[in-house]
Amino acid sequence: MAWIISSYLVVVLSTACSGTASAPVSSTPAPTAGLPAQAPTAAALPTLQVPSSPQAQASTAAPDCAQPNSLTPSVTEGPYFKANSPERTSLLGSGVTGTKLVLTGYVLTADCKPVAHALLDFWQANASGEYDNTGYTLRGHQYTDASGRYQLETIVPGLYPGRTEHIHVKVQPPNGPVLTTQLFFPGVANNQSDGIFDQKLLMNIQDTGNGKAAIFNFVVNAGNAK
Ligand code: FE
Repeated sequence: MAWIISSYLVVVLSTACSGTASAPVSSTPAPTAGLPAQAPTAAALPTLQVPSSPQAQASTAAPDCAQPNSLTPSVTEGPYFKANSPERTSLLGSGVTGTKLVLTGYVLTADCKPVAHALLDFWQANASGEYDNTGYTLRGHQYTDASGRYQLETIVPGLYPGRTEHIHVKVQPPNGPVLTTQLFFPGVANNQSDGIFDQKLLMNIQDTGNGKAAIFNFVVNAGNAK
C-alpha cells in the first residue's frame, strides 16, 4: 500500500481553542462493539511524505490511497484516561517541557474518504513518564477539519515502568464508534518488550530543527458517514 500526500504545506492551526460546542469523549463513550480487535488484513503502514518542517504545512490535498486501507488497530485504554479534556490543538505551555513534537494526519475511512469533524482525544505522560491525574496537563481533544485533517502540538512522552514511549488517543467519527488506541515511536528499544506495542501504530517521524515532526493517519469505521 502506498499513500502519498503531495504538495504538503503547513497550516499552523490555532493553538488553544476553548470552544465547548461539542462534548469530548465521555467516560461512557459510544458503543465500541463495531470496532475490530485488529486490522482485517496484514498490510504495511502507509508511506507518507513528512512535511519539511512542523511549521510548514498543508493543505487541502487529500491522501491518495492506492487501495482500501486496513483499519487502525485498537489497543487498551490503560488506567489514566480522563473524560472532559479541554478542546485544544496544543498541549504545550504551563510547565510542559521536553522535546517538541508536532503530529499531523488525517482521519479516513477504509475506502480513503476523509472524515470531517472526527473527535480526537489525546492524553500522554510528561517527559518524566508521569500523567497528570488531577488536572489536564498533556490532555486535550480536537476535531478534524473539513478535509479530515488534524494537528497536535505536544512533547515526546517519557518512559514509565513497563511501557515504551506512547501517546494515547480516542478517535470517534461523527456517526461511528470510538476507536481507542495508542501511537508509538520508531526506534525505541523498549518497543520490543512492550506487550501493547503494535508496529501498525508506529508514527512516521522526522527530526526537525525544533523537535520532531510526526505523521499518523487513522483509518476508522465511520458508521453512517458518507
Ligand atoms: Fe500510558
